[in-house]
Amino acid sequence: MTETTDHGTAPELSGEAISVRGVGKTYDAAAGPVRALMPTDLEVRPGEFVVLLGPSGCGKTTLLRMLAGLISPTEGTIEIGGRPLFTGKDNKPARDTLGSLGFVFQAPNLMPWRKVWRNIALPLEAKGIGRAERKRRAVELAELVGLGEFLDHYPKALSGGMQQRVAIARALIHRPSILLMDEPFGALDAMTRDTMNLLLQRLWLDTGKTVVLVTHSISEAVFLADRVVLLSQRPGRVQDVVEVDFERPRDLAVSGDTRFADMVGGLRKQLGGHA
Ligand code: ADP
Ligand code: MG
Repeated sequence: MTETTDHGTAPELSGEAISVRGVGKTYDAAAGPVRALMPTDLEVRPGEFVVLLGPSGCGKTTLLRMLAGLISPTEGTIEIGGRPLFTGKDNKPARDTLGSLGFVFQAPNLMPWRKVWRNIALPLEAKGIGRAERKRRAVELAELVGLGEFLDHYPKALSGGMQQRVAIARALIHRPSILLMDEPFGALDAMTRDTMNLLLQRLWLDTGKTVVLVTHSISEAVFLADRVVLLSQRPGRVQDVVEVDFERPRDLAVSGDTRFADMVGGLRKQLGGHA
């Protein structure tokens, strides 16, 4: 999709590929080194929806934070759209590559004194984009996530699910090609979570972005994913990769399908009660 803006911002990128080769992480903790992730390989196709599933403490957040350029790997390389994420001898994330990435955490982390639209538009302020353009883009994204009527509300007036919609819109405002999500719906009740899963699927189908989402919910993983990457207990390793080929868009009734139940059962068995 091309668009002209008054600030010549980059055109919207469709999904880019992610390439993870031999990426591992050992933390330097006070009590000694902690091996959080064994050297891991993962190729995510452009526009693919990949879910990382695994027990608590297996290194899911560690891997996602490395993909986001927030922490650097101890070993291995990460490429985003064919460009190395970490460059130079200090292994710093490359600025232009970071622009391809949007990140959503479990907590929405909104600024309580800012209205919805100004929370969504926040990342554009640092880029020096004018108010009219910021608002136009925030409105567009608020509508995309079903918050068109709440632009002038403050976060405290919103439910948890609505706050997380604001966080998703904010993650998309700089038009990343890749959306990285760390247990984004983990704090929500089951019904809101279902609604958010449907919303995220539609958003992904409409925008063609690449998504990597972390969860420890097996059914959420199977519902959302093109591929589920199962990580073993700490230190995490890729234990299995499961292709999920249900037609899109999926509706919630797919969880009643016997093949769905079989996939969930198979993953649960491999997790051995650790999820
Ligand atoms: P997950 O997201 O799968 O629950 P994490 O990636 O958060 O797992 O953590 C993986 C392992 O690394 C855990 O054992 C955790 O205690 C450890 N860990 C995470 N962050 C740090 C850190 N900054 N320093 C030391 N150890 C850490
Ligand atoms: Mg985590």
